Amino acid sequence: MRNETLHSEETPASLADFRPEPGTAVHRLGTLVDKYGRHVTYVRLSITDRCDFRCTYCMAEEMTFLPRSEVMSLEESLRVAETFVGLGVTKLRLTGGEPLVRKNVMWLIERLGALPGLDNLVLTTNGSQLDRFAAPLKAAGVKRLNISLDTLDGERFRQITRIGDLNKVIRGIEAATQAGFRRTKLNTVMMRGVNDHEFVDLVRFAIDRGLDISFIEEMPLGEIQGRSTTYISSEDALSILARHFDLRPSDENSGGPARYWRMPGCDTRVGFISPHSHNFCDSCNRVRITAKGELYPCLGHNDALNLLPVLRKGSEADLRQAIMDSMGIKPFGHDFTHQMNNPQVIRFMSMTGG
Ligand code: SAM
Ligand code: SF4
Repeated sequence: MRNETLHSEETPASLADFRPEPGTAVHRLGTLVDKYGRHVTYVRLSITDRCDFRCTYCMAEEMTFLPRSEVMSLEESLRVAETFVGLGVTKLRLTGGEPLVRKNVMWLIERLGALPGLDNLVLTTNGSQLDRFAAPLKAAGVKRLNISLDTLDGERFRQITRIGDLNKVIRGIEAATQAGFRRTKLNTVMMRGVNDHEFVDLVRFAIDRGLDISFIEEMPLGEIQGRSTTYISSEDALSILARHFDLRPSDENSGGPARYWRMPGCDTRVGFISPHSHNFCDSCNRVRITAKGELYPCLGHNDALNLLPVLRKGSEADLRQAIMDSMGIKPFGHDFTHQMNNPQVIRFMSMTGG
């Protein structure tokens, strides 16, 4: 548990305060290393803040989306990705908003899939568009999919997403398997009194389809009422599941923040992403790029570096330098509290890219 060991006082107030010393560990050999010695090899790239759902924990009911001129073009997103790969990044997750509602998204994905040095192109989706996209995504070289699924009840699904159709998502999950995706992972945001009575059924659903499943503690991102009443910890969820499944802790690591449990005789992994109760900052290897080109070194902090002006006016060397400099503002960690009605981070998850 590292929540109490935040070192924010060591973080420079702004990028202007940070100038890496020549020859320090920071980005030696053209790699990205922050001042705590963590190598950044993983980028989550949001390609839109828009979505065809309005999940209650992620967005306000009435959202204002970015004007198109402020969103990175697909060409700009590709340039950002290429520059990161040139700096040693090997894993890239496309996210959003809903990445598959971005117009011409396959143009970008086909190019990313063919990018030398990018070993692991993956995507997080709400599944609503997968019945038509699963096969092209597989053909373009996407390695794995994370699909969000919080409930198996159509009515509850509509309440949580405000507009989504559960059947369409289930068809999307099936299309992913038919297209040849393996180790597809379901992501379930845990909400007390909303879907906690379904955790067991969701795990059975995953087992029946040969999928993995990760349960996520809800994070206080963006101003949304009522969060602290629905918060449920990974420990509580684990004790619910342990009454039904023979869960054994596993030291597997998928390169992300999840901790996994296995069940004998079954291929499904049950993961927990616990930003509150088991802060995963020690081993953080990632940064996030929003749809408007801001580089967030940490999901739980408001410090960011705007790459868009550099992308639009600077040279390739400027872009590279800006990304390398961002290592100096990567804080040691986040510290979400359970007082979730007061968001510590003012962005919605759909803005930053989950
Ligand atoms: N639209 C896609 C989806 O839903 O999978 C990708 C973007 S979404 C922001 C990425 C992930 O963030 C989803 O699994 C979603 O459930 C999760 N998420 C959104 N808001 C969250 C919050 N406040 N706390 C925890 N997880 C959240
Ligand atoms: Fe859309 Fe994903 Fe946010 Fe739900 S969690 S509103 S599907 S971006």
